[in-house]
Amino acid sequence: MFIRKCEMCGSEFETSSNRAKYCVLCRDKAQVMRNRSYARKKKAGISVTIGSEQICPICKKTYIVTSGSQKCCKECAMALRKIKKTPTTAAYLKGHYDYIRVNVPKGEREGIKEYAKSLGMSVNKLFLTALEEYKLNHQ
Ligand SMILES: [Zn+2]
Ligand SMILES: [Zn+2]
Repeated sequence: MFIRKCEMCGSEFETSSNRAKYCVLCRDKAQVMRNRSYARKKKAGISVTIGSEQICPICKKTYIVTSGSQKCCKECAMALRKIKKTPTTAAYLKGHYDYIRVNVPKGEREGIKEYAKSLGMSVNKLFLTALEEYKLNHQ
């Protein structure tokens, strides 16, 4: 037999296992606590409470749950739906265009987006059009 000190209540106890951490009384409590935190985790993972705040796994923003099957915020859900609905768009872009990442001065992104919108084109189209115009004017 080993004499061990209980990690929970600090009292000494006899045990046949040299790895025991808790006395007989506390061992039950420790088990209950483990079960509880497991149940809590399980609950959190499987069902989300409607009306509760969750963090979107995609954009990391907090959102309010409006349905039990909701897994990300509305914006991301909408974006995902769009991608699913128009798989040809993504495939088309991949086949016909190359991707360039354009950096714009800090804080001007929204302004550029708005400007493109006011012209009735996408930011992408605006840049391409601007490039064409630049070429025309700089021959
Ligand atoms: Zn104890
Ligand atoms: Zn999101």
